[in-house]
Amino acid sequence: MLFVVVRSVLVILGVVLAWVSGAGLAGGQYLGAQIWRVYMQNATDQDIFQDFERKFPVVETVYQGRSVLDVLVRGSILESAKEHFASVKKEYEVLVDDVEERIKNEDTPMTDDEISPKQGRGYNFTYSHYHPLSDIHDYMDLYLAASPSTKVNNWILGRSFEKRDIKLLEIVNDLNAPYIWIDGGMHAREWLSPTTALWIANLLLREKEKLPEAMKKLNYYILPVMNPDGYEYSRNEDRMWRKNRNLAAGNRSRRQEPSLHDCKLGVDLNRNFDIEWGRKEGASNNACESDYKGPYANSELETQGVVGFLSDKISKVKAFLTFHTYGQYILCPYAYARNAPLLENQLELIKIARTAAKNIIKMSGSNYHVGKLTDFLYACTGTSIDWAASQGIPYVFVMELSKDSFILPVANIIPTAREGLELVKAVAEAIVKRK
Ligand SMILES: [Zn+2]
Repeated sequence: MLFVVVRSVLVILGVVLAWVSGAGLAGGQYLGAQIWRVYMQNATDQDIFQDFERKFPVVETVYQGRSVLDVLVRGSILESAKEHFASVKKEYEVLVDDVEERIKNEDTPMTDDEISPKQGRGYNFTYSHYHPLSDIHDYMDLYLAASPSTKVNNWILGRSFEKRDIKLLEIVNDLNAPYIWIDGGMHAREWLSPTTALWIANLLLREKEKLPEAMKKLNYYILPVMNPDGYEYSRNEDRMWRKNRNLAAGNRSRRQEPSLHDCKLGVDLNRNFDIEWGRKEGASNNACESDYKGPYANSELETQGVVGFLSDKISKVKAFLTFHTYGQYILCPYAYARNAPLLENQLELIKIARTAAKNIIKMSGSNYHVGKLTDFLYACTGTSIDWAASQGIPYVFVMELSKDSFILPVANIIPTAREGLELVKAVAEAIVKRK
């Protein structure tokens, strides 16, 4: 296990690579593609949908609510998929009518001034673009970790399958205080989650005066991009990529099957944690599926990085918050089954989530739903929140930011991060009150 503490000794002379927003994306693969919301009210709807999936294996489910499925319908099959739905008299709602257009309008190319970092600044990160991993890492190393007022440790939790660093910031306000864990970027395409984690880190390190007292009394582990390979792949190759890039984790014969050229190999990190991993339902055994759980529990380098890092620190961690998109939910464990036992402090968790949701609605009007994960979503096994709860961390939440899309213009970066901050505030208040 690789744990490297890199102290905040900084070399600001590094060459920062120029990058033009969106230029890396291959482009065109989502021409004509749409995202449909399909309502699943009863067994007949299930049958109809299964039949649809059999007929159109390239259709990917990108979101599973309890009574809705959002599916990505590629341009190549759009017309025949429409005909199929008409023939079985099943209705659907078009959630995104032009995926390619959404991707195009998500960000604008950076100006020359934005690309060349200011003299001596050494990093190239803003909240007005979605940045490549190298910009994020430079921002963490050269700016956030160099906070003049707060002690920061830079950690590398390990390296990904494609040998990228999995980087975490430790923010220490008080040596004796408990920690809040915050992660983002577990699912590659959910770009508003790394930006939210980074924005909160920036407040903690550079604009502390804007934060409530409770937040300033605690310490933090912040992991903005848990899945660095997937993140880069979603930027450069496939904007809708979700999993890590461990292509070897799949079944060989399946990989060589020519009819499965659309197979997206990789492991869903949020099905890979060692908690209820072997259950029959709640994750896929098929390496081509977007919720493939991996060959065995904790098989992935990214999962191992998190678990290994926290193994001797769990008792200090009082909250575990993981940012995802989308759906506007603040949810707590357990996720693995609808009939899973309630946590001892379930009511307290709901109360904290409600406080955050109330403050969000007051602030932005966004309506976040609050509850146990299975109250709103399909049961899923091997999730990080279930693992964190099983380790005895008392305050555990997943926050599904943004209403109904992974792909939102950059103007959404800060408003979304503000919503994430409300959860951190509510959790910090609860911890400080309990101390
Ligand atoms: Zn996610």
